[in-house]
Amino acid sequence: MSVEKTVFGNMPDGREVKKYTISNEEGVSVGIIALGATLNSIEMYDKDDNFADILLGFDTVEDYLKLSDYQGATVGPYANRIGGGAFSIDGIKYDVIKNEKDITCLHSGGELSFALWDSIITDTSSVEFSYESKDGVNGFPGNLKVKVVFSLSEENELRIEYSAVSDKKTVINLTNHAYFNLSGYNGGSVLDNILTINADSYTPVDAFSIPTGEIAAVEGTPFDFRSGKPIGQDIDAENQQLVFTGGFDHNFCITGADGTLRECAHVLDPKSGRILKVATTEPGVQLYAGNFLKGTTGKNGEPMNKRSGFCLETQHFPDSPNKPDFPSTVYESGKKYNSVTVYSFGVSE
Ligand code: BGC
Repeated sequence: MSVEKTVFGNMPDGREVKKYTISNEEGVSVGIIALGATLNSIEMYDKDDNFADILLGFDTVEDYLKLSDYQGATVGPYANRIGGGAFSIDGIKYDVIKNEKDITCLHSGGELSFALWDSIITDTSSVEFSYESKDGVNGFPGNLKVKVVFSLSEENELRIEYSAVSDKKTVINLTNHAYFNLSGYNGGSVLDNILTINADSYTPVDAFSIPTGEIAAVEGTPFDFRSGKPIGQDIDAENQQLVFTGGFDHNFCITGADGTLRECAHVLDPKSGRILKVATTEPGVQLYAGNFLKGTTGKNGEPMNKRSGFCLETQHFPDSPNKPDFPSTVYESGKKYNSVTVYSFGVSE
């Protein structure tokens, strides 16, 4: 295992954006940049031993700052949506940024995703990123110290360990927003990828993509990925949920989630034979099928077209701060938040 440190570019104020590339003996590597503690590249072999970069993203800092739909970024303090851009803790109302149509809060307005993080190589296979989100930024209470450690193993497991602590009672929900295309970032549509999600239920949403509060069974709906099916098979089915979101963009409730690491999803790309497995300690995973990608130019001048990447964002359920029946995302001052997600890569036999 080895970690190489290079300079990816500069922030508009001149600060250097470092890039770390963690590589294993098989030649598999993961590149992470300090802007947004962002996964920038994953070089992985296919069934014929050809390597490709299977992450959507950009080649420059400027593009990440101007064009990004959160490609590969760490997201927080509260990933996903908060309905009405407000929530209350102990009777105190917090109005947070309403960066979506002036109505809802999405990904906390991108604070963690577009900040320059501190970084340090912790050993031959891991890099730690840290950032302090100041009390009141975008309306969130507390000075929140966040750490994210990325490591790669010889078994092609990319492990992401999140920890955070605030000096005020607050809400915390961290994730990574990697868009995968297992055929390569220029690999075309992901709709033929066979996806399995270990979820008996999901959280239906309203017209603003805010969960209604219901935990609905996937049985007999397009949301049943339990035995594996192409992402595209039912994506355009006549279903009000899919109309609201323009395709899959929903949180699935992971069956048996109990805070320990468990596999929640499996994806096979028939073209390349590459396989992705996702395991997490979180209770939910957002399947986002890249419905809003609109051909923005990404790496190497290639367009990122609609549904040319999928995200499996491990998380607590969206809008939990306003949903008392969902697993809680509230943390007392000084109480440590911990979360682990492992993306493992392989090829089919
Ligand atoms: C959301 C999508 C959104 C995307 C990019 C996902 O987490 O669910 O609705 O378009 O992030 O912001």
